[in-house]
Amino acid sequence: MDSREFRNAMGRFATGVTVITTNDGTDAHGMTANAFMSISLEPKLITISIDNHANMLKKIKASGQYAVNFLSDQQQDISMNFAGQKKKEDGVDFGFIQGVPVIKESLASVVCDVEQEIVVGDHTLFIGSVKDVKVTDGNPLTFYCGKYGDYRQKEYA
Ligand code: FAD
Ligand code: NAD
Repeated sequence: MDSREFRNAMGRFATGVTVITTNDGTDAHGMTANAFMSISLEPKLITISIDNHANMLKKIKASGQYAVNFLSDQQQDISMNFAGQKKKEDGVDFGFIQGVPVIKESLASVVCDVEQEIVVGDHTLFIGSVKDVKVTDGNPLTFYCGKYGDYRQKEYA
């Protein structure tokens, strides 16, 4: 199986879109990611998976903290900015929670301390101990088959 075939299959798992944010010394650094999982309630733990070649990797290692921001369907431009797909001309407005930069108007921002770091293949999992959350109402941005979309709720009996 080649990489394209694998990605085509993985792309059929519909996800939301997050931007991971951390401190880069005095500045903020962000990266678009959909490899996110909530993993434990007691204690409250989440995980993200970062490519070993991504700039984000050394920035999280240095700061020991990160936030995961769940994007709304109004924030595709922010996703594209932090995936290096298209620069957002008017810049990005960061807020701060416990000193960690977050993306304003995200559906939720989850702020963590790095609890554990596990190198797995060509990615590194950062298990985060959740310190704070902030939530806002809205609809999610989605990613399916390599394309952005939105979510329309349909009720099943
Ligand atoms: P860079 O390439 O240095 O930064 C990414 C972009 O963010 C650059 O364009 C940079 O200018 C901009 N940026 C950073 N900080 C700021 C700032 N303060 N202000 C304004 N702009 C800023 N990769 C993974 O490893 N794991 C995943 O789970 C993952 N999921 C993805 C999901 C989707 C839907 C997409 C589209 C991409 C995903 N990627 C994932 C790929 C990843 O987003 C890109 O490879 C990204 O460019 C890698 O970021 P980097 O940390 O190397 O930083
Ligand atoms: P795509 O077809 O590459 O992505 C479809 C799915 O494949 C993703 O949702 C993810 O589950 C998987 N995938 C893609 N690249 C991967 C990687 N390097 N490691 C592990 N899983 C991966 O969609 P696209 O529009 O071509 O993606 C845009 C860019 O974002 C590509 O460069 C892609 O590699 C990158 N991306 C990386 C990850 C990741 O590192 N986990 C996830 C999604 C997208």
